[in-house]
Amino acid sequence: MARLPFDSRTRVTSPYGWRVLNGARQWHNGIDLVGEDYVIRAAAPGTVAVSQMITDRTNATWQWGNYVCVYGEDGRYIYYCHMAERRVSAGQRVNAGDILGIMGSTGYSTGDHLHFEVRDSRNQSVDPTAYLGIENKVGEIGEDEPEPRESNTAWSDEAVLWATKNGIIYGDGAGNLMLDEPCTRRQMVTFLHRFARLMGRA
Ligand SMILES: [Zn+2]
Repeated sequence: MARLPFDSRTRVTSPYGWRVLNGARQWHNGIDLVGEDYVIRAAAPGTVAVSQMITDRTNATWQWGNYVCVYGEDGRYIYYCHMAERRVSAGQRVNAGDILGIMGSTGYSTGDHLHFEVRDSRNQSVDPTAYLGIENKVGEIGEDEPEPRESNTAWSDEAVLWATKNGIIYGDGAGNLMLDEPCTRRQMVTFLHRFARLMGRA
């Protein structure tokens, strides 16, 4: 998965997919983001395929204005559009987090924002929110309601004690239990499946 293209607080101002713009239903090929610090960073490593300013309105992609396209190691193309300034040039290698440019409003844009677009090897746009691991909705990223704290119940006490003793989980000092190593949902499901098999239930 990729990282967010901003280090600062980031707001989704327009999600991916169908949207209504000036009364007309339109397909949005990317997602619009506004980063508080204006510094646009590479979401994933790759090689800069394009870094240019388009002013010629007969060009099909003039809307992007000042933009950078990075060809990622995973075979996807990531577009960073409407920049005020570009800080990389074509052929340059970038790591995730490297500065690509400064957010702006060049091309077809009504205000400072980053149009972030992900395309697969067939040049088809894919859902950038899945790629970034965020929700496809307008609003501040990561500002959702915190998950309710797990309450201690007798049935889980024995398991928690066992897992703590064995270094699988630890307390963060604020009443939350954390996994010792970050664990993906896939790993968790694999673990549960193996456990069920061990118990003769799968
Ligand atoms: Zn956009």
